Amino acid sequence: MIVVMKADVGPDSPEVDRVVEMARRYPDVQTQVRAIQGTTRMLTEIYLLGATAGVPKDIFEEFPAVEKVIRIRARYRAIGRHDGEAEAVGFEYRGLQFTQDSLHLFAGLCAVDTRENVASVFRSLQAAGLQTARAGAYKPRTSPYDFQGHGAACLPYVFELAGKYGIRVLAMEVLRESHVDEIREALERTGHPTGVMLQIGTRNAQNFELLKAVGQQDEFPVLFKRGMGIPLEESLNAAEYIASSGNPRIIFCLRGMRSELGDPHRNFVDFAHVPVVKRLTRLPVGIDPSHSVGKKVKGPDGLLDIFHVTAQGVVSGANLVLVDFHPQPDQALCDGPQALLIEELPHFVEDVQIVREALLARRRVAERYAAPPAVAAG
Ligand code: PEP
Ligand code: MN
Repeated sequence: MIVVMKADVGPDSPEVDRVVEMARRYPDVQTQVRAIQGTTRMLTEIYLLGATAGVPKDIFEEFPAVEKVIRIRARYRAIGRHDGEAEAVGFEYRGLQFTQDSLHLFAGLCAVDTRENVASVFRSLQAAGLQTARAGAYKPRTSPYDFQGHGAACLPYVFELAGKYGIRVLAMEVLRESHVDEIREALERTGHPTGVMLQIGTRNAQNFELLKAVGQQDEFPVLFKRGMGIPLEESLNAAEYIASSGNPRIIFCLRGMRSELGDPHRNFVDFAHVPVVKRLTRLPVGIDPSHSVGKKVKGPDGLLDIFHVTAQGVVSGANLVLVDFHPQPDQALCDGPQALLIEELPHFVEDVQIVREALLARRRVAERYAAPPAVAAG
C-alpha cells in the first residue's frame, strides 16, 4: 500500500510521522518513506510493506495531509503505475526535464575512440541544437579480444569537451560500481562541465548488485536498458531494484529483443512497447534504434531502417532516443556498421521533429474524440 501525501508535505514533516505511527500499529507492517522530486511537484510517499491486506485504506484517507492511498497491484511497487493511480512526475537533471512527455536525443559515439572524434561529434550536436549525447567509455564486448573502451583514461577529455560544446547530459554505460566512482572523480577534477546519466546495458539488466549500487546513489540518474532475452516483467522488476534502493530517477530504454525471428535486424524491434511501459510504470521511456536495427540498410523509399524504427518509437511517445553516430564508421572500434554519419544528423533531427509533431497532433485528435459531444444550446 502507498500513502501519497499532498504536494507541500515533505518527508520529515509531522504529518508523515503520524501516518507512519498509524501504520506501525498493525503487526508485521513495515514502512518506508520516499521523496521524489518531480518536475512540477515533490511527491512524498509512504510505503506500507508486509502484511497490509488487512489494513484499511480509509484510516489514512481521513488525514488532511494525505492525497490518496493506493493499493499496490504490481510487484514493481516504486516504479509501478498501479492502474494509473500512481503519478508519473518525472525528474529534472542539469536543467533538463525528463518526463513521460519530454523528448531528448542522446546521439553520439557508441565507444569513445579518439579525442578528435569526440570533439567532432559534440561540435555537430551543438550545431544541430542538441544538448544531450552518448559516449561509451566502458564497453561490454562479446569477445575479450575486442576493444573494451578507454575507461577512466578518456573521462577528463570527454567531460571537458562536453562542457565546451554545451552538452548538458551524457549517457555513459557503467559495468561495475567502481566505474561510477571513476565518473564522479573525473567530474570533480574537471569542475563538473557536464552531467552523466549512468547507463545499465542489456547484459547487466539483471546484475542486481550493480542495480542496487546505482540505486543507492542519488547524484546520477539511470538509463536502464531492457534485458535482451527476458520477459518485460523481469526487466521491470530489475528496474525496481534501482528505485527500491532509493533512486527514482530512471529512464527505461527499449533496445530490441534477442531473437532469430528479428532477422535481418540485429534485434527484434520492440518499440510497440513504448506505451506499454508508460502505462505500467511511472518512468520516462527511451528507445535505442541503433542497437535494435544494428545496420545501415535502406527501404525502397530511401529512408534508413534506423530512421523508420526511430519514427515508430517517437510516434508512440518515446521520451529519449539513444542513437549511434560516428565521423568515420568504418574506423569505429565498436558497432561501426550501425553508426550514422555526422552529416546525417540534421536529416535525423528533422525526421524526428516531423514525427514528434505527428504524435502531438494525434494526441489532440484523441482528446477531441474522447471529449463528450457538445450539447446544442436551446
Ligand atoms: C550500448 O548502448 O552501447 C549498448 C551496449 O547497448 P545494449 O546494452 O543495449 O546492447
Ligand atoms: Mn554499441
